[in-house]
Amino acid sequence: MTTLSPDGPVDVAIVGGGPAGASLALRLLALGRRPLIVEKEDFPRYHIGESLTGECANLLDELGLGDFMHGAGFPVKRGVMVSGASATAQFWVPVEGLAGDGTRFPATTWQVRRDEFDAKLLDTAVERGALHIKGECVDVLREGNRVCGVTIREADGTTRNIEARAVADCSGQHGFLCRKGVIGPKDRTGYENQVALFAQVKGMRRDPEPNDGSTHIFYGRRHHWAWSIPLDDEVTSVGIVLPKGKLDRNDRSKAEQFAESLSLVNPELIARTQHAEIVSDVHAISNYSYHVRDFTGPGFICVGDSHRFLDPIFSFGVLIALQEAKLAATALNRWLDAPAKMAPLDDYAEAVSRAQAVVEYVIRTFWEFPLVFLRLAHFSHRGDIAEIFSGRLYSENVRDIEAVGLMRDLLAKSGKMAA
Ligand SMILES: Cc1cc2nc3c(=O)[nH]c(=O)nc-3n(C[C@H](O)[C@H](O)[C@H](O)COP(=O)(O)OP(=O)(O)OC[C@H]3O[C@@H](n4cnc5c(N)ncnc54)[C@H](O)[C@@H]3O)c2cc1C
Repeated sequence: MTTLSPDGPVDVAIVGGGPAGASLALRLLALGRRPLIVEKEDFPRYHIGESLTGECANLLDELGLGDFMHGAGFPVKRGVMVSGASATAQFWVPVEGLAGDGTRFPATTWQVRRDEFDAKLLDTAVERGALHIKGECVDVLREGNRVCGVTIREADGTTRNIEARAVADCSGQHGFLCRKGVIGPKDRTGYENQVALFAQVKGMRRDPEPNDGSTHIFYGRRHHWAWSIPLDDEVTSVGIVLPKGKLDRNDRSKAEQFAESLSLVNPELIARTQHAEIVSDVHAISNYSYHVRDFTGPGFICVGDSHRFLDPIFSFGVLIALQEAKLAATALNRWLDAPAKMAPLDDYAEAVSRAQAVVEYVIRTFWEFPLVFLRLAHFSHRGDIAEIFSGRLYSENVRDIEAVGLMRDLLAKSGKMAA
């Protein structure tokens, strides 16, 4: 990949070249702006988060990556199967598209290897003209209360300042602006202390065709679950999420803990992994849920995981990164024209918070009231749940979806979440 150095201030310095950062750069380029991506890792690099929602396909099309996605050989995802501990507690949520007349139709999306997917996004941004520096952002430049650039450290240890008219924090869980005290701190109140252990396996039994490329979620008990996501004809991504404490066993390797955990979650998972063999490193991540308020301000904006991440169970992460990048590009473009007015950044904050609240209603209802969720998804509000799972969360009237209102009211009445 070509690495370029900026000559003079760039429009937007983007911290991190994951899906949020790379797609923000692509959107800014399309608006005639000059973005610079600073990414600390060499791509391709491993990243968890392989299952896409239906709307991701549309967003990737908009970015001109439709042909790549169709030709890359990624497994086709038609929906999500959720299996409870008993055979009767099972439901399927299909990926659905939305036609212009409001009717829904069966659609598909993909499961992606994130090393390949993220590298394609970043490469495309650079090919189309984004500046790219391999380095780590280690500090923020400020003029009064305005953020006006970043200090980066390059591979040889040298540091330099990059001036920018705005800084977009797309650093994911790293939370760059939070660490630097520009925003934050991360609020973890009400978020469970969880740990996820994940690896790639071969020999796992899959759902029958045509759903053999789809996501399967195995429910154990509250906040205790597992996923399987096919990555190609043989390899499956498998993750197990447990309350922290269950896995604080320093005397065991991650591989041993992963193998042991496979038998702890759900009988269907046990049956399917009987002949499975681990073919990758085993990774672990804990305390990944948080919420940072006030994530926009003079000269800065946060996109994707850098300001909020709740729970990976329904695979909203990449969708949120791509969709927030789209909204952030529009907001930054307007703000750069008239930096004294904060309205564009405020509008962005409102739109993404509205969508994130809906994600939170869904996830909290699933954990706090699993039988209610089963009834909504399997019987009374199948279409609404398919709509939400497909990722159409960003319209102004998303809260008017009947199932959203029911979940919001239930959570508020039971004191589990403010309306
Ligand atoms: C256990 C688990 C399972 C998940 N499963 C799914 C799933 O199936 N589907 C899904 O859609 N989502 C899933 N997610 C969420 C998904 O991985 C993230 O939401 C998504 O990657 C967010 O994209 P991003 O661009 O905001 O951040 P990232 O993809 O994390 O990208 C951030 C980039 O910033 C770089 N960076 C960080 N700090 C700096 C710095 N200081 N200077 C320069 N560069 C920096 C990093 O190297 C990285 O490349 C999962 C998450 C977890 C924890």
